[in-house]
Amino acid sequence: MSAKHSLENPIISLIIPVYNEGPSLRTNLLAIRDWTGKSEVAYEIIIVDDGSTDSTWDVITQMSGEIPEMRALRLSRNFGKEAAILCGLKETDSDASIVMDSDLQHPPSLIPEMTRLWLEEDYDIVEAQKTNRGKEPFPRRWFAQGFYAIMQFLSGFDLAGAADYKLLDRSVVDSYINMPETNRFFRGLISWLGFNKTTVPFDIPADGEMRSSRWSLNKLIKLSFSAITAFSYIPLQLITIVGFITFMFSFILILQTLYMKFSGKAVEGFTTVILAVLFTGSVTMLSLGIIGAYLARIYEELKRRPNYVVRDRIGEETIAQQITSTKRSLRPT
Ligand code: UDP
Ligand code: MG
Repeated sequence: MSAKHSLENPIISLIIPVYNEGPSLRTNLLAIRDWTGKSEVAYEIIIVDDGSTDSTWDVITQMSGEIPEMRALRLSRNFGKEAAILCGLKETDSDASIVMDSDLQHPPSLIPEMTRLWLEEDYDIVEAQKTNRGKEPFPRRWFAQGFYAIMQFLSGFDLAGAADYKLLDRSVVDSYINMPETNRFFRGLISWLGFNKTTVPFDIPADGEMRSSRWSLNKLIKLSFSAITAFSYIPLQLITIVGFITFMFSFILILQTLYMKFSGKAVEGFTTVILAVLFTGSVTMLSLGIIGAYLARIYEELKRRPNYVVRDRIGEETIAQQITSTKRSLRPT
């Protein structure tokens, strides 16, 4: 076993984005800590409060007194999970990071195995792969399946079953945070990055306390659009193809119309006119819509706005700094 990741005292950061998790956050964090507290490996917990409007931040403040290896950042408003993940990853200086949800749908019991695969088998990315989708309301399940199918067709990445529950080596985290783009679809970009990866299967716990998803349908649709436009130009090429087909079609119509005119059988064909107008009209609108979507993306990128704004934080020192400062204070002077 090569020793690339077998560091002397590895440190792993758990990045946990939270949005309106309220009091259940406490139980969940304690459950997560049950799996990290006793380990050989040093884990730190970085909570990113994605602009929660309930008691979440109070719970975090309170818990930070109880969990010394926990740090927290509070974003100035809800920027979305992707932004919260980026914020957490930028905060780390550890040897690896694990990104996970706060609602225990990403079972913390996988942490030791993910860590082992990274440390002993030298994988750069360890992805937890969903074997089921838990209990989900119907439209959402359909939406998800439809999205993954379209996404795979358009971008070539198979993301079905991919979760945002991943362990990333330092090198992957660095590549990810140094990407210049504003628009980020975490799963897609990690898949795009490549590296040496493996998966660990898991079932979404069905018995766990179910609370409604923090994703509104509106947010999900937005995420899907940005994911598709970020990873595929096929919709743009589609315009050209549709345009070409309509052109061929109109060409035949033109010939037919001219023939009718010169053979003195004209006037009729009113239906054809209406159909043609409607058809070209709708195709044009559709195409403009697609171009608009890409234009919006370009505009987003050009603005170079930050992905998130931090409003508050708890705990400045990273766990690495804490360890070195205790070493320093133990050293005889
Ligand atoms: N989340 C977030 N910002 C958002 C929505 C969700 O940080 O705008 C967090 C949420 O607190 C949770 C994780 O992202 O830790 C996944 O959210 P949820 O469980 O609602 O999503 P689902 O399980 O439906 O994918
Ligand atoms: Mg969830």
